[in-house]
Amino acid sequence: MLIGAHVSVKGGLLTAFDRARELGAEAVQVNPTPPQTWRHLHLEPELVIQFRERMSATGLNAFFFHAVYLINLGTPRPELLVNSEGSLRHYLELANQLGVRGVVFHPGSHLGQGFDAVLGQIGQALRRALEGAPGESLLLIENSAGAGANIGSTLPQIRRMMEAVDSPRVGLCLDTAHAFTSGWQLTTEEGLSAALAELESEIGWDRLWAVHANDSKAAFGSNRDRHENIGEGEIGSEAFRRMLAHPQLRRAPWILEVPGEARQGPDRANVERLRQLGGLPALGPP
Ligand SMILES: [Zn+2]
Ligand SMILES: [Zn+2]
Repeated sequence: MLIGAHVSVKGGLLTAFDRARELGAEAVQVNPTPPQTWRHLHLEPELVIQFRERMSATGLNAFFFHAVYLINLGTPRPELLVNSEGSLRHYLELANQLGVRGVVFHPGSHLGQGFDAVLGQIGQALRRALEGAPGESLLLIENSAGAGANIGSTLPQIRRMMEAVDSPRVGLCLDTAHAFTSGWQLTTEEGLSAALAELESEIGWDRLWAVHANDSKAAFGSNRDRHENIGEGEIGSEAFRRMLAHPQLRRAPWILEVPGEARQGPDRANVERLRQLGGLPALGPP
């Protein structure tokens, strides 16, 4: 199984490979552009070649992009919907060029209109983004913590979005912290079994492409999104040990988005912790 981390690309996309190596990460997620902006990225052909070379030399092909945070597919504002769709299409194009596996995104909020009212526009926008960027890269819906009118905090909602897109290129990225605060009782054996049975029946294991491995500073069912280091939050080490023992969850790369010991982002200590809880060999000193 692969344990990885979200890393910065300060200094360029290629720096992600160096940062991943320092952390001992075997899977990577990055924001290729600043996630608070709509900025597009132009890839020089030379960079595409270098990126693909690094990917094959390091074996880091479980590589993901995280979409910008401005995206809202549930918006009533046509301009924001167009920008959201365009940004996802752009990221898919980049991912296709670079051999990046998928683009993880937050669907957004229906802002009180209700999920049913915006489902059609979400399906249409996602389908158009995929059709506008033909290739192999996937669009991965990340489950949300369910604050306010946020979309995608339940598996039936995610299934219905997938049905509305109707493409094998749409899948799920399961964030453990968001799942916990949106009401998945991950801390008990029964709670975990029930959640995973629902995941299997609503989504199917073949659609689970990545796990965001985060403990939660926010309480169970609080609908709040506050990540914590593995074993230091409300989910706790035992729950991670149980999740990491699940064969279908182990098939997906696990990507840390935790604050880290130094509060500078995912670190080697958290990678080691997950490896230990998952029964994987220790990395040892860098
Ligand atoms: Zn996310
Ligand atoms: Zn996440």
